[in-house]
Amino acid sequence: MTTHMRFPPVTEYGPGERPHAVVIGAGFGGLAAAIRLGAKGYQVTVVERLEQAGGRGSVFRQDGFAFDAGPTIITAPFCFEELWSLCGRSLADDVKLIPMEPFYRIRFDNGDVFSCSSDHDAMKAEIGRFSPSDVKGYDALLEDCKKLYEYGFCELADIPFHNLFTMLRTLPKMALYRADRSVYSHVARHIKDERLRMALSFYSLFIGGNPFSVTCMYNLILHLERTFGVHYVKGGIGALVQAMVNLIESQGGMIRLNADVEQLLVEDDKAVGVQLAGGEEIRSNIVVSNADALWAYDTLLPGRKPRRWTKRKLSNVMHSMSLVVLYFGTNKRYEDVDHHSILFGPRYKTHLEDIFKHKRLADDMSLYLHRPTATDPSLAPDGCDAFYVLSPVPQLTGDIDWETEADPYRQKIQQRLEDTVLPGLSESIVTSKIMTPLDFKSRLNAPFGAAFGPEPRMLQSAWFRPHNLSEELENFYLVGASTHPGAGVPSVVTSAKVLDHVIPHADSWAAQNV
Ligand SMILES: Cc1cc2nc3c(=O)[nH]c(=O)nc-3n(C[C@H](O)[C@H](O)[C@H](O)COP(=O)(O)OP(=O)(O)OC[C@H]3O[C@@H](n4cnc5c(N)ncnc54)[C@H](O)[C@@H]3O)c2cc1C
Repeated sequence: MTTHMRFPPVTEYGPGERPHAVVIGAGFGGLAAAIRLGAKGYQVTVVERLEQAGGRGSVFRQDGFAFDAGPTIITAPFCFEELWSLCGRSLADDVKLIPMEPFYRIRFDNGDVFSCSSDHDAMKAEIGRFSPSDVKGYDALLEDCKKLYEYGFCELADIPFHNLFTMLRTLPKMALYRADRSVYSHVARHIKDERLRMALSFYSLFIGGNPFSVTCMYNLILHLERTFGVHYVKGGIGALVQAMVNLIESQGGMIRLNADVEQLLVEDDKAVGVQLAGGEEIRSNIVVSNADALWAYDTLLPGRKPRRWTKRKLSNVMHSMSLVVLYFGTNKRYEDVDHHSILFGPRYKTHLEDIFKHKRLADDMSLYLHRPTATDPSLAPDGCDAFYVLSPVPQLTGDIDWETEADPYRQKIQQRLEDTVLPGLSESIVTSKIMTPLDFKSRLNAPFGAAFGPEPRMLQSAWFRPHNLSEELENFYLVGASTHPGAGVPSVVTSAKVLDHVIPHADSWAAQNV
């Protein structure tokens, strides 16, 4: 990756020069935005404060093991295929996606195991094994989820919501689809068995939302997964990030790492570039921020009177939960453990209340266990396994002291794994690393260490979420999990697609701004 470049002056274009776009942050949102801007003819520079691209999709390497830090599941490959086709290329030439079958196995606290797959008949048989009377309801639920996908994802995800009328126009359909219902209550209308209700409603946690409070529109994920599959990127998520970086560089764009943006440069109410820590200024014609929007509004515009994002408004936002993620390598392979496993604890609703409402750290826990070496042994030394285990926990608005709680919590997670699916774990761990809410805050500039931005409640979605076209400054745009349409890799990549509606082609921009 290139670490320095010469920047064109802001509005003077020589022959062959192009308007310059700076993208703050090289998460999936920023990388997707850079590719789209490059395809629109802009000269693009991505500035990333970390030592590597990927943001939450970073990779940690330790003692011969490679650990995907965050996303492990790619659910909507078409979002990436579209980026590649904008560059006249094919995703399959650069990235190998491996479909997972089954998607994951869910282990309930009493030891019952539910296998989740794309095969509709197998799924119905599995539902019937748990509760024969719920098979019909499952079909009806999937029918509903298809409609939610067709409206929520196909019609609304990639359009800008800075105009209140856009929001108002959605109201009749939102009423029709009873978007006021929660994810859980929508599932519960069709499914009676409590274990199946858990297995079919926990998905909103993938995007930071409590299934008991976020809108059932997010049940579209059930349709998305079953229609487009659950995929693993060969080589780990870092391989996809690197392929996006390569795509940007093939367009003539640049990625600057270890480049921490301290503030926006502003002239006449327009964003005209960024200032890095250390004082370097990078002038540009437009600025797109992939940093958390609430953090950006709180930090990058010092001394300005905000139009919408006042301190009061910022402090009223309800943040998603955070996570403790433990990455570890073992000196043996656990062959009977799947690539993706969910381990439910004894409680569901009250456990989620502890996390989202009471902000307390419970003794019991639900876990997601990732064993990529089930599919891709290259991520660990021969005969070894690489794992990560993730536990949803409260973000930092509570009073949990992670400096003292991290190690006892790590031990509890390890014990739970040892007692359930990884016997003998404590003797076989050879390397480990932990990430707590404090790391989300300090490494990723995530307010209160929230892992997924603002919680995707009804009144924090679409128009209510930070807009992709900023109302605070001209030529300033936002992408990523904290903006519309929200968190999760398909959504953040789609947030960059929204820019197509609000940023003109570079030629038009240049013609309008001579
Ligand atoms: C543990 C975990 C597991 C997940 N699993 C999945 C999954 O399996 N599938 C899925 O679809 N989603 C998953 N998600 C959600 C998904 O990873 C995120 O929603 C998505 O990656 C967020 O991308 P982003 O571009 O919005 O933000 P980020 O990835 O956070 O990128 C923002 C970037 O901006 C940079 N930045 C911030 N401030 C500055 C600054 N001042 N100057 C320069 N750069 C700056 C940051 O360093 C960062 O690189 C998971 C999330 C986590 C945390």
